[in-house]
Amino acid sequence: FDDRKNSFGPNIEIESDWTPFKAKIDAFMGQDTQWRAFPIVGGEKVETGHTHAVLSPYDHSESAGQIDWADTATVTKAIDLAEAAFPAWSARPATERADCLDKMADLMEENYAELMALCHREAGKTIQDSIDEVREAVDFCRYYAQQARSHFATATPYTDFLGQEKHATLNGRGVFTCISPWNFPLAIFTGQVVAALVVGNTVVAKPAEQTSLIAFRAIELMHQAGIPTDVLHLLPGDGATVGAPITSDKRIAGLAFTGSTGTAQLINRTLAARGVAPVPVIAETGGQNAMLVDSTSLPEQVVRDAVRSAFASAGQRCSALRVLFVQEDIANRVIPMIKGAMQEQSVGLPYLHSTDVGPVIDKKAQTMLLEHIEHMTKDAKLIAQAALPSFADKGTYVAPTAFEIASIDQLTDEKFGPILHVVRYKARDLDKIIDTINHSGFGLTLGVHSRNETTCARIASRARVGNLYINRDQVGAVVGVQPFGGQGLSGTGPKAGGPHYLQRFAIEQDL
Ligand code: GLU
Repeated sequence: FDDRKNSFGPNIEIESDWTPFKAKIDAFMGQDTQWRAFPIVGGEKVETGHTHAVLSPYDHSESAGQIDWADTATVTKAIDLAEAAFPAWSARPATERADCLDKMADLMEENYAELMALCHREAGKTIQDSIDEVREAVDFCRYYAQQARSHFATATPYTDFLGQEKHATLNGRGVFTCISPWNFPLAIFTGQVVAALVVGNTVVAKPAEQTSLIAFRAIELMHQAGIPTDVLHLLPGDGATVGAPITSDKRIAGLAFTGSTGTAQLINRTLAARGVAPVPVIAETGGQNAMLVDSTSLPEQVVRDAVRSAFASAGQRCSALRVLFVQEDIANRVIPMIKGAMQEQSVGLPYLHSTDVGPVIDKKAQTMLLEHIEHMTKDAKLIAQAALPSFADKGTYVAPTAFEIASIDQLTDEKFGPILHVVRYKARDLDKIIDTINHSGFGLTLGVHSRNETTCARIASRARVGNLYINRDQVGAVVGVQPFGGQGLSGTGPKAGGPHYLQRFAIEQDL
């Protein structure tokens, strides 16, 4: 296993002996384990009667459990309680709030087997992705706890040449709304919520409809970790019943969102239409991410990194590679190697070691991706398509597919799945290509493969992206090491897992 993010701590040595860990996870993998989840408001599990079955993306005849969605009364009550709880929670010392985050990290490490099983069964995540998911959630808790202790626990003195004395503190703003995506159902969900909490905000959290079971367990663990039950509320449900009121309510003092650019724009409009004080929005959205490969690069490395960036997590990452630009001098070498590597990709059940690529999240995603493949088959040259397993039609599988296209203009919006587009370019056109990428308006990740330092520096200074990766893959940003977030249509910043993130959730007050 990739051990870059080893936050499981010293007690869990996955590399040295995996078997007992896998056995613990497998104990949650049988059909007899069914999760039952509800909105959690004021610590109460609310049975609303709006019950939805959660089907496993790899096999729709298997259910992972059931979830009740919140109704309007539940949403209103959650906001009422969160508003009332704010003064006491924000008055608590930041160090106490940080202790809750460290405790939450410990609890997730203890419960890793159940959380990983939920990643498999509810989100269709592979073993590697599930490990990364739990690790990232743990990392967010520990990192933001440490950031809060450094920046929120004591007042900052201002040096003053006028001889006056002045200090400022960073405090919570009020009730924060957190709206999170299904592709990182634990990590991003946890990251947003604990960031808002540790600063002193109270929180109403809406997980993605597809992945609310794992969010339910995360909230239970947060309450167990010491977050008061009136401070943090879980509101599973859809955009109309939950997303809309937790955005339009006049009491919402800030909002963190990860999801599509269109929804981020809708959120902005809804918040503005309230006619109250403007509030901060922290949005992480989509991308049309490219990798630029020049003729000095090492083809084996390029292929390894391009395949991982495009197809890991079935391409369901905002950071994933969508358009690979290969300098034409080496294209005839690189493209057949990509084809070879793709034929080796094993698509299958996410909880097996042999699987590289699992299913996509649901039918809607599958249909959209298959339509794009069909459309591209007419307009572009197929490079390769990985084989699907015999049981593929039981779940929502999409075969990793690569096309050669003439220009990035053939693509419109982001296709969130395992589809790669390859474009050949001439060395003299490099600047033009970077400008085209910039003009797309997105700016999330960009990969570069080149052994020419001048080229790398030139690309780095011209490209407008949040995360630039040189001679490596472009997915899997590590908390505290590669703060993650985009520019333009890809998000507002600040970057998650970075030193400036918490401040956006806070208000600065003079003492
Ligand atoms: N942070 C993730 C990565 O670096 C992507 C997050 C997302 O897909 O929203 O791959």
